Amino acid sequence: MKAYIKTFGCQMNVHDSERIADILSRHGYEITDAPRGAEVLIINSCTVREKAWHKAISEAGRLGVRKRDRDDLTIVFAGCAAQQEGDKVFKLIPAVDLVLGPDHYGQLPSLIERVRECKSQLSRVGFDEGRPGDFLSLEPQGKRTGTSAFVTVMKGCSERCTYCIVPFVRGPMRFRPDDDVVREVESLAQNGVREVTLLGQTVNAYNYEGASFADLLARLDRVPGLERVRFTSPHPGYMTKELIESFGHLETLCESIHLPVQSGSSRMLRRMGRRYTAEHFREVVEKLRSSRPDILISTDIIVGFSGETQEDFEQTLGLIEDARFSGVFSFKYSQRPGTPATKWRDDVPEEEKKRRLAALHTVIDRIVDELRAELVGKVLDVLVEGPGRNPGQLTGRARNGQIVNFPVPPGMTLGSALGKLIDVEVVQLLPHSLEGSAILPVRAR
Ligand code: SAH
Ligand code: SF4
Repeated sequence: MKAYIKTFGCQMNVHDSERIADILSRHGYEITDAPRGAEVLIINSCTVREKAWHKAISEAGRLGVRKRDRDDLTIVFAGCAAQQEGDKVFKLIPAVDLVLGPDHYGQLPSLIERVRECKSQLSRVGFDEGRPGDFLSLEPQGKRTGTSAFVTVMKGCSERCTYCIVPFVRGPMRFRPDDDVVREVESLAQNGVREVTLLGQTVNAYNYEGASFADLLARLDRVPGLERVRFTSPHPGYMTKELIESFGHLETLCESIHLPVQSGSSRMLRRMGRRYTAEHFREVVEKLRSSRPDILISTDIIVGFSGETQEDFEQTLGLIEDARFSGVFSFKYSQRPGTPATKWRDDVPEEEKKRRLAALHTVIDRIVDELRAELVGKVLDVLVEGPGRNPGQLTGRARNGQIVNFPVPPGMTLGSALGKLIDVEVVQLLPHSLEGSAILPVRAR
């Protein structure tokens, strides 16, 4: 049978979809990249922001229409929105056959079989609190190719940020045993993967029977063949001294970090339930910079949270200036049903949210341009990931997270360069990437 998976939302969802594909492939499915011809259509939904939720539900509606012409289709609505809505999804989109929360992907093949046989609707939501067979312990078995891979180290979240639905749809935090993580990374490295990104909602809160996140990073630093380690998303409250110092001495730990701050106003942070102040965040940034002076720090910011005044917002702009973020994912606050913040009015008008978002973009765009300009003339260590923007070019990522395009070096081909580390001098800035030229003679590692 053929299956098509449409993914919405964050990297964790992207990774979950990869693992769903892996589980289905092991059960004889062929994964297709278009819905046409597939018997099983899977929507891996997101509900973090209202917009994501609308997108997922309208995709389910669109795919559902296909059932009018084909009675052998099975539609699976999976992910965070599925967990949140449960059986209500059947009322919204009657064409859906199976509603599946994120803790039940391991049973997907048997559940698909069941709904196809019984021709009835079925939902599986709720959290497994670390039972054997838990999705977290299911290592991908399929052939993992490529230069870079995601590795889950924890799932769920036990924070209570007042705006956020994640703890309600992903359950409490649960950690994967450090031995399992190391084993998976070792096997990835043996198969040619050179860079791993560790995933978790508060990834740096990791603590498995006394092994801290910094301990885990130190163990991964010794995995033969592994060149780079990244992680997302850390919470500023868990940026321990040990972790910050790891950036200074672990060779594999890349000099870039995505550290969501959400607001530059301590008053707002308190109301958001973030459990740190703007001053604490500034200190973390300072310490990261003294541990690793060339580190690039990016962040997430919510504008127009309930009660945010112009003054609060200006403090956010001030923090962006001072922290010199290399990138900001910015979002207009949207109220999510069931979250603690629904007790307050969503009182910043939509027009004002838009204005604040635009003002934030003006500031961050300037800073990003300045930071990128500083990179011109520098030599970056680029991990080649594929063909570049133009024919005859390669593309890859530098350790600091920047995307670099450069001509295939003399004596090399796309095939021979793929997965190699090459020193590239940055020659000019492009809108979303850097253009460079390999240092000759090429030292491809
Ligand atoms: N665990 C991560 C974030 C997960 S959600 C962390 O703590 O940083 C990804 C981002 O979506 C958040 O960082 C936040 O900026 C944004 N977000 C979450 N809920 C939101 C809401 N109700 N409205 C607008 N943005 C939201
Ligand atoms: Fe949501 Fe906060 Fe948990 Fe991040 S840390 S997932 S924002 S509750």
